Amino acid sequence: MGQSQSQQQVPQRPPRIYVLTKEEAANVLAHANRLDGFRDALFLDEVNLRARSECDYTPMDGPDLSLDIPDLKKDVVICWMSPSAEAGMPHTRAPNIICMPLYWKQGSISETVKHELVHLDQRARPELWVKWCVKEGWTLVHEDEIPERWLRQCRLNPDTMAYRFWAYKERWVPLPMFERADKPKLREIRVRWWDRKTGTLLLESPDEIKELVEGIINPEHPFEIAAYKGIQL
Ligand SMILES: [Zn+2]
Repeated sequence: MGQSQSQQQVPQRPPRIYVLTKEEAANVLAHANRLDGFRDALFLDEVNLRARSECDYTPMDGPDLSLDIPDLKKDVVICWMSPSAEAGMPHTRAPNIICMPLYWKQGSISETVKHELVHLDQRARPELWVKWCVKEGWTLVHEDEIPERWLRQCRLNPDTMAYRFWAYKERWVPLPMFERADKPKLREIRVRWWDRKTGTLLLESPDEIKELVEGIINPEHPFEIAAYKGIQL
C-alpha cells in the first residue's frame, strides 16, 4: 500500500517511413478498404471500374527506401504496387499508406512522397484542410447537385474522394472527366469546369482561377492543388 510506482517514460522516437513487404501491404490494404471505402465506391461506379480494367491493384515486394523527410509528423507506410495499379499513379490509402507503383523513377521519389504526405495529412486532419479550402474561396458541393451525365464521367481519386466536389467562389466546380466516356482510361482525363451559375461545362479553367492553378497539370480538386504546391498547415 502506498508504494509509489516510478513512472516509466517511454522514449519518444521520431516518426519513420516503413517500406512493407507484399504480405504486410496486403494486410494494411485490406484494412484500408474498410476505412476509406475506396474499393466499395469503385464497385458501384461502372465507368471508373472500366477505366481500371487493365490495372492490377496488387502489392509487390520492392526496394527499401532511405528518404530524408525532415518534417514527418507521423509514421507512414509505403506499399509497392504492381506498376499498373491506378495506372501507375502514386496515391494514398487510409490511414497512413502511400501506394507507389513499382519501378517509379528513383530520382523523383522524395518529391512524390512529399506530395503524398500532404494527402495523408488531409486524411489525418480533414477539419483543418476543409477550413483551409474555405479560406481559399472553395465551398463543398454535394455530388447530387452535379448533373448526372457529367458526374458519371468523373474519375474517382482515392486522395480526394472523402470530400469529392468543391466550387470556387461558389460558382466553378472542377470535374476530372474522362476524355472518352465510351472508352474511359484512368490517365486520360481533362479537368472541365461546371459553372453553377449558367449550368454550362467549360472546357478551360475560368479566368478567375487561372492564377491559382497556374502550372498545375490537373487542378481537379483543392486538395490536389495544395499537394502540388506543397502547402503545410
Ligand atoms: Zn495528389
